[in-house]
Amino acid sequence: MAKIEMKTPLVEMDGDEMTRILWALIKEKLLLPYVDLKTEYYDLGLKHRDETDDQVTIDSAEATKRLGVAVKCATITPNADRVKEYGLKEMWKSPNGTIRAILDGTVFRTPVIVKWIEPCVKNWEQPITLARHAYGDVYKNVEFRVPGAGKAELVFTGEDGQETRKLIQEFKGPGVVQGVHNLDASIESFARACFQYALDQKKELWFGTKDTISKTYDARFREIFDTIYENDYKSQFEQAGITYFYTLIDDAVARIMKSKGGMIWACKNYDGDVMSDMVSSAFGSLAMMTSVLVSPAGVYEYEAAHGTVQRHYYKHLKGEETSTNPVATIFAWTGGLRKRGELDGLTDLVKFADRLERATLDTIESGIMTKDLALITTLPQERVTVKNTEAFIDAVAQKLA
Ligand code: NAP
Ligand code: MG
Repeated sequence: MAKIEMKTPLVEMDGDEMTRILWALIKEKLLLPYVDLKTEYYDLGLKHRDETDDQVTIDSAEATKRLGVAVKCATITPNADRVKEYGLKEMWKSPNGTIRAILDGTVFRTPVIVKWIEPCVKNWEQPITLARHAYGDVYKNVEFRVPGAGKAELVFTGEDGQETRKLIQEFKGPGVVQGVHNLDASIESFARACFQYALDQKKELWFGTKDTISKTYDARFREIFDTIYENDYKSQFEQAGITYFYTLIDDAVARIMKSKGGMIWACKNYDGDVMSDMVSSAFGSLAMMTSVLVSPAGVYEYEAAHGTVQRHYYKHLKGEETSTNPVATIFAWTGGLRKRGELDGLTDLVKFADRLERATLDTIESGIMTKDLALITTLPQERVTVKNTEAFIDAVAQKLA
């Protein structure tokens, strides 16, 4: 059988630990037999990041800008333990943070829905995609404890020396105070990435803030979204038959719980932090959560939402059997291949991505799964077969064949 041809290479960002092992197995058993895989390879494994003084991470992000689509394996974000473990020159920054900063992107997380793994919210039939604004607000706050009586003020000094002052509170006794900010440019990038991705996915876009209470700060988010929508996206949305829906954040939460799902839910930084954990845990498993970074320029980087599954890796190193779920990593590859196929007009590549996803889901639906899913499935246990890491991928390969 002739292999499926590719035109433009994918940017391939290899990673660490157990996911690095999944990565190689997926390529060997699920992709290379069918696709004449073209990639520009960057080794983001921690050892190589250290050897290159993290230049490889920057290079891989620049390549993504140039080629348009990347697939990334999970990577270690070093902490003090990792500096010792790998004898690092420095505590390198999070690769995801570096890549996101270069691409100016927004992360969209979507659960993979499969029969027998039921969401806790029984009316959720379609996946909910969560988009979190990844800049500012309480994550870049300045705060301190107020020791006692006194006056707290907000002061802005313009470049021309002009001061704007506002009283925050006349303290009568001790308390706390905090300053937060955001940037029009960052909110605009976030809005564009959300509109862009909604069009790409042909899904509704929801956005909520607390602009009834925060009449300037949160209202600025709403205004920017509204303006960009009216000027640049409204007619495209109408053509695609999708809608942009704004409501108060608390109303959004209430409606989401009663919905069938299927929307992209854009959230401010804190709301997204909290709600993404709620949505992902309600859908079942971190191992089934996919993630894509979309830049306002329309560049895509696909990955699994989980980390390198360190605990399983240490078992693997000791020669013990592991049962690590490769679904999110497989879907990172299919996401990247499908997007590459769409951009290059390669129908066969798009169809291959669909088939590989179907084969993965069919395998699970037939009762063959990794341990994490076996623990939460609603399929009766006598119909479940738990496979180890490699045997599960073999089972998917068999279905695919
Ligand atoms: P993790 O790798 O997401 O794993 C946490 C736990 O979740 C695992 O121990 C395992 O539970 C379960 N799990 C996650 N993915 C699974 C899968 N595919 N199959 C089965 N079970 C899965 O998080 P972590 O252990 O806290 O972090 C490990 C490293 O990953 C860290 O160095 C961190 O910096 C990095 N990280 C990277 C990314 C990224 O690159 N995007 C994201 C997050 C974390 P059990 O042990 O109970 O089986
Ligand atoms: Mg969180």
